[in-house]
Amino acid sequence: MSVRVRFAPSPTGDLHVGGARTALFNWLFARKTGGTFILRVEDTDGARNTAEASAGIIKGLRWLGLDWDEGPEIGGPCGPYFQSQRKDIYDAYLKRLEDAGRVYTEENGAVRFKFSRTAITVHDLVCGDVTFAPTEEPDMTVRRPDGSYIFHFVNVVDDIEMRMTHVFRGEDHLSNTWKHIDLFHAFGATPPIYAHIPLILNPDGTKMSKRDEGSAIEHSYMNAGYLPDAVFNYLCLLGWTPKTEAEKLSRAELTALFDAEAIHSSNAKFDLKKSLWFNAQYLRELNADDLLRHARPFLAARGLSWADDAVAAAAVHSVREKISLLAELPEWVHYFFREDFPFEADVLAKLKARPENAGLLKAAGESLAQAAEWSEQSVHDAVEAAARTLNVKPGAMMPLLRFALSGQSRGPGVTTIAHLIGREKTLTRIERALGQF
Ligand code: GLU
Repeated sequence: MSVRVRFAPSPTGDLHVGGARTALFNWLFARKTGGTFILRVEDTDGARNTAEASAGIIKGLRWLGLDWDEGPEIGGPCGPYFQSQRKDIYDAYLKRLEDAGRVYTEENGAVRFKFSRTAITVHDLVCGDVTFAPTEEPDMTVRRPDGSYIFHFVNVVDDIEMRMTHVFRGEDHLSNTWKHIDLFHAFGATPPIYAHIPLILNPDGTKMSKRDEGSAIEHSYMNAGYLPDAVFNYLCLLGWTPKTEAEKLSRAELTALFDAEAIHSSNAKFDLKKSLWFNAQYLRELNADDLLRHARPFLAARGLSWADDAVAAAAVHSVREKISLLAELPEWVHYFFREDFPFEADVLAKLKARPENAGLLKAAGESLAQAAEWSEQSVHDAVEAAARTLNVKPGAMMPLLRFALSGQSRGPGVTTIAHLIGREKTLTRIERALGQF
């Protein structure tokens, strides 16, 4: 029997780390087993579900690189994949329960399901066997007076209709799983194998909510400048420890290593520092072209543009080890793309405190103007020659040049900056900086 799993979000808001990680575990399991991964949008709650939220969730999943084999945008044999479009199916299933005498209608029109009131055991892949004593709860409403169906009912009907073999979902659903199993049995169907995955907590141990730092995929990751591969990797480790030494693992490695039974049964703790560390590692491994591709929207958002992609790619690549997020990039590279960058006042004040500095910068400029060709090496040689003439160390000139070329005191090597912006701009910038002394 081939594996069929699904991610079944309720589109009430943004995609959050918890949901993304649920989707990811289902995806990993499907890809590992050669099964089918389905996206099903659970949007039967007209009051709370919105089309924007569905679109946002889909966008987030696509960004993470989680492709589905059946679902919105691509269809499939068990469609439609929006529950709001499946009312006929639910009506037919309700009829089955009516015929079996398992439901009754209240005066107000609500339809209730008669619980079996037997002990029900969930054989959970993660939590083990969990037995629920016969319930004393009142029978469960499955259809509201307005004709809409409640979550438990449509969730089970669709898991039957879509022939789910396994269900990986958040642990918050475990307490209701007996209701689902009771419904499966009432339909004469076999429940899927459940795997309830641990919740993701804040570093302080409180439950992570929508407003917490690092919770929303679009806001905290896409817009902040994480790389999808880094987030994919990091989220996998929230609640699962792959059996291998390394933590930084590719999608292919994670897929090969995925082991549902190794998912932790205790809660996972979100660690912002660690997620940043992962991103920094992934960023520094990108080649210049790929880095520029990911950086483009972040540079554009700051109004930075350029004519030569190769230079822009080399510029961003030169600072790849300085950043953890793409959103930090503009402040590290803005001067590559504009001549009117500001000179940082405190750096200027420090450099001006030494009266000889203006002369040193001027001499460096004159030497650079004489350089026979323009490469990192020739820039280096020209500065060294100027330093020798004035009997100072080249190290005394470099901070001055860095300030002249970038307006700041940190960044990639001075020779790299000079080489990338070219001789003309290097000399003009030195002139401009000299005007500050
Ligand atoms: N729509 C439910 C949720 O978003 C899905 C539960 C399940 O995966 O069965 O929590």
